[in-house]
Amino acid sequence: MKIKIKTANGLLSYVRVLVLSLGIILSTQIIAASAQSKKPVDLIVHGRYVVTMNDARQVIENGAVAIRDGAIVGVDTDRRIAAEFSANKEISGKNRILMPGLINGHNHAAMVLFRGMADDLPLMPWLKKYIFPMEARFVDPEFIRVGVRLACMEMIRSGTTTFVDMYFYPNEDAKVIESCGLRAIIGAATIDYPSPGFKGWDDSFAAAVKFVKNYKSKSGRVIAAFAPHSPYTVSAQHLAELSRVAKKMDAPVTIHLSETRAELGIIEKRYHTTPVLLLKTQGLLSNKLIAVHLVYPTEEEIKLLAKYKVGVIHNPTSNLKTAAGVSPVPEMLRQGVTMGLGTDGAASNNNLNMWRAIRLAALIHKGVEHDATVMPAETVLDMATREGAKAIGLGKVTGDLVVGKRADLIQLDISSAHMTPLYNVYSQLVYAAAGSDVVTTIVDGHILLENGKFLTLDADKTIRDANKMAAKIAAALAQR
Ligand SMILES: [Zn+2]
Repeated sequence: MKIKIKTANGLLSYVRVLVLSLGIILSTQIIAASAQSKKPVDLIVHGRYVVTMNDARQVIENGAVAIRDGAIVGVDTDRRIAAEFSANKEISGKNRILMPGLINGHNHAAMVLFRGMADDLPLMPWLKKYIFPMEARFVDPEFIRVGVRLACMEMIRSGTTTFVDMYFYPNEDAKVIESCGLRAIIGAATIDYPSPGFKGWDDSFAAAVKFVKNYKSKSGRVIAAFAPHSPYTVSAQHLAELSRVAKKMDAPVTIHLSETRAELGIIEKRYHTTPVLLLKTQGLLSNKLIAVHLVYPTEEEIKLLAKYKVGVIHNPTSNLKTAAGVSPVPEMLRQGVTMGLGTDGAASNNNLNMWRAIRLAALIHKGVEHDATVMPAETVLDMATREGAKAIGLGKVTGDLVVGKRADLIQLDISSAHMTPLYNVYSQLVYAAAGSDVVTTIVDGHILLENGKFLTLDADKTIRDANKMAAKIAAALAQR
């Protein structure tokens, strides 16, 4: 009996140990199996607030974005992302807003080297006495390399992930952008007058055609485009010629359009029409056109811009600084025009910080229309992200945090005094945020800025090289 009991007790203990061991083995296997069933990704980026800018304008509290092969594969709460994905690297979202990178729809990147060279001057003396002579003297491949690197540094630091450029030596421009890691559309500048490297239209247009035809981006991040300067510096005949070629090549075109009253006068005198109507006659109005400024569109022209799905880029700082005027942005939005935001070049801004353009765009139209409800924060942020991406023809690629889009995203620190308290993320981003709040910039899944540190460029050398070039420019200015 004793033995039996002993045996029974022994058996019971044995069974207990067996069950326990089986349990441990099973739970270990379950954990292992669930780890195995988790999808491997390259990177998970978290955010206290994830401002997706998706169709529903969803803001996820304590959320994250999972990234694989440069694409967004998951956008959800931290918990759900952790249950579905395992990553090689994670970036904390503590005290951080995570949102899509900003789209700067109009820039002349290398012109950062002319930042502050001549300010507070009327447009024509500014161009003729300073910009054109200094461009003729200094703009060469080395100027482009030094200037574009400085511009990329400023953009990466302040959260721009995509920009549209319009300038000279587009192949040099592209090389720097590729190495810095940003996404860009590069418009090869063409103009009827002598410009750096060119005598006039024929050679500048031939070079632009060659660039658009031959340029192949290694990363897929850089797109070649045409950039006829404007309807008052490129003849109607040349605009039509460019339009035919661009259409055949299915290439984007970007142009300054309806910027000043002086331009309206020239177009009226030469062609007895208005700038947008002239472009329509020359066959340029389409969804491949990125039209910049539009300070003076007529009602009829606004309807045409909407009908032809032209992307329009608003540059509030540049328009004020050059005294061009204020673009009727709220009216264009009401009429269904696709609108993005831009800084323009640093010579007429003087920064490439999109947060300043965002804040100004939200403020000036309220003052002009005497209506505090126009251009609400969310609308302006749309223009700087998803709508800006659509305006430049990249709406399917970037602009919001949605599965399938390329992973272009930024984090902003929200622990500082000027970001506290936080009731509404859109208001905070538009009216309170500064470019220096950006701590992380990621393009195509690659980290370009982490905790405020540059990973794709040498910041000290970039500043040093820019100052060296500026010393030469300053010496030339002093000699005049
Ligand atoms: Zn411009």
